[in-house]
Amino acid sequence: MENLLSIEKSRSGRRGVRFEKTKQPATAYLPDDLLRTDKPRLPEMSEFDTVRHFTRLSQLNYSLDGQFYPLGSCTMKYNPKAYDKLSALEPFTRAHPFAPESAVQGTLQILYELQEMLKEITGLAAFTLQPAAGAHGELTGILTVRAYHDAHKNNMRTEVIVPDTAHGTNPATANMAGYTVVNIKSAPDGCVDKAVLQEALSDRTAAVMLTVPNTVGLFEKDIREIAAMVHKAGALLYMDGANFNALIGLAKPADFGVDVMHLNLHKTFAAPHGGGGPGSGPVGAAAHVAPFLPKPLVEKKGDVYTLRGKMPQSLGKMKAFYGNIAVALRGYCYLRQFDAGTLKNIAEKAILNANYVRAKLQGKFNAFFDVNCMHECVLSIDPSKMNGVHTADVAKRLLDYGFYAPTIYFPLIVPEAMMVEPTETESKEMLDAFVGALEKIYEEIFSNPQLVHDAPHNQPVSRIDEVSAARQPNLKW
Ligand SMILES: *Cc1c(COP(=O)(O)O)cnc(C)c1O
Repeated sequence: MENLLSIEKSRSGRRGVRFEKTKQPATAYLPDDLLRTDKPRLPEMSEFDTVRHFTRLSQLNYSLDGQFYPLGSCTMKYNPKAYDKLSALEPFTRAHPFAPESAVQGTLQILYELQEMLKEITGLAAFTLQPAAGAHGELTGILTVRAYHDAHKNNMRTEVIVPDTAHGTNPATANMAGYTVVNIKSAPDGCVDKAVLQEALSDRTAAVMLTVPNTVGLFEKDIREIAAMVHKAGALLYMDGANFNALIGLAKPADFGVDVMHLNLHKTFAAPHGGGGPGSGPVGAAAHVAPFLPKPLVEKKGDVYTLRGKMPQSLGKMKAFYGNIAVALRGYCYLRQFDAGTLKNIAEKAILNANYVRAKLQGKFNAFFDVNCMHECVLSIDPSKMNGVHTADVAKRLLDYGFYAPTIYFPLIVPEAMMVEPTETESKEMLDAFVGALEKIYEEIFSNPQLVHDAPHNQPVSRIDEVSAARQPNLKW
């Protein structure tokens, strides 16, 4: 009964609420040739059974509200419910997109103040809130770079340099923006190899895209020198700041020499995400690049907030209207809630929690780079030393213990990677429980490896046959 589909639970004639038949049937309005000839094949269920069906399905899902969610590079932190309430207030949700500015001064004020706060924490000169996600922010940022070079008649610059520790969206973005991607190999310590970078830089370089902290969870320790090298070559430094949770309140990217960057409000700034959005990826730019950002920005003229500022060099618009305002509102709440000291404490605790997990697991599941990490630690599982058990097996076994699996097989430069990002909002008790589960799995690897190989065992769907799934896909019910 439990695992049946709703259509299998259907019984002819069973109904939820019964409404009276309308006096005017649809046939009175619709042309005959548009009327269907057979009845829709919908499940026929009582309201009670329907509620139970969907409630049960919702509980099968892993979610932040139910489980620890250490998905690396995703910053699955607690998203305060109060922000949901505030961002759902009618003056925001019912504002018409074409409402005159005088009617939405409050919303514009909040967006303006959010831009100002993002400027403050990054040190950059201007921010646009238009981009609808991190990757969209990257595209916006790289198109801003292009507008900058175009204005300087630099149209020979056709390349974007991306280290192999970048998030996968970085090379995809550069490619989508029409640039040739030049991939560079990192040094053995997981950071940019300056000699290799120098070799790649030329008068064809438009930008270097750095993910900071990079995807192996490390801060680019030479970022100032890297910025100087990039600028000397006449290129711009783009920073992927999606993982700003590691830096918020601790350091300002403008001080590193960053020219353009994006942030993910739906990570660091406590807006819910997962399941594909909506998101918000604001893009900031240093003064020399700011005139090329998308328009309009929210500006303040006297006591009035307006979208009518002149930006003759702007690349144009990146999103209809002004971005995902409901997400921006949550980011605003987040930044208004904390003072500077608390923001710094968020980054410090995120870093501490990741290192706590890394240190606790040492000797069983080791970090690939044996150094202190930033907000996430990247473990590497060597099957030759683990009874033939792979990272995917460990991740699936974690599901049995009630934990969402960390990001696995990413970053690509770490073999059998498992990327754990606990975030600052988890308690020590939760981190200990997670470490405890991994310690149990470590024991199982040697006492009963088959158990780990065949995991998960207590999930609605057990281990699927991936080969058959690819060779004989059964794509319909
Ligand atoms: C999440 C992430 C992105 C992409 O953000 P989306 O909102 O998913 O498009 C880009 N870079 C890094 C480092 C990320 O962690």
